[in-house]
Amino acid sequence: MSAAISIHPSIDNGIKPGLANFAGGTLVCKCSSSPVKVKLSSQTAHNHACGCTKCWKPAGAAFSVVAVVARDKVAVTENGDKLSIVDPKAAIQRYACKGCGVHMYGRIENTGHPFYGLDFVHTELSPDSGWSEPGFAAFVSSIIESGTDPSKMGAVRGRLKELGLEPYDCLSPPLMDAIATHVAKASGALKS
Ligand SMILES: [Zn+2]
Ligand SMILES: [Zn+2]
Repeated sequence: MSAAISIHPSIDNGIKPGLANFAGGTLVCKCSSSPVKVKLSSQTAHNHACGCTKCWKPAGAAFSVVAVVARDKVAVTENGDKLSIVDPKAAIQRYACKGCGVHMYGRIENTGHPFYGLDFVHTELSPDSGWSEPGFAAFVSSIIESGTDPSKMGAVRGRLKELGLEPYDCLSPPLMDAIATHVAKASGALKS
């Protein structure tokens, strides 16, 4: 019954574990000609399903699947002239392809941001396999903002748990702790 609940096409049939020695690959946008290519020269981390309204997701998907990678491991290698920033005022500047709309990477320019230095990427855009698998689901309640019927939330959370993705309505506890630690060190409440 819960299999009828679609989370994201890359995980609806189960989650494929990443490869231990995987060293990166290339993201390719969905344009049939002159696609944008972005090379990631390392494995990704903190991969997760995200229910927020800002992340790019394929048509019909309730969630995005998004991971982070160090910004110095991210290089636009082809057709970078097709990229534009979705919202220059957002904390995460998402570089989308003007041709197909796919977000190739999201970058934080505020050096005081807890996640400064990490870019956000969707490894489903890569033909390479071995990327780190999603480990939890973030901003689950936010899928209602995209039009999901609130009465379906129990089934959605049940399906996420069945897939091994603990559902959270913000980020996971380790990431929330990392943000709070960053804030406490900045304020002096914690000595670094
Ligand atoms: Zn494109
Ligand atoms: Zn998101």
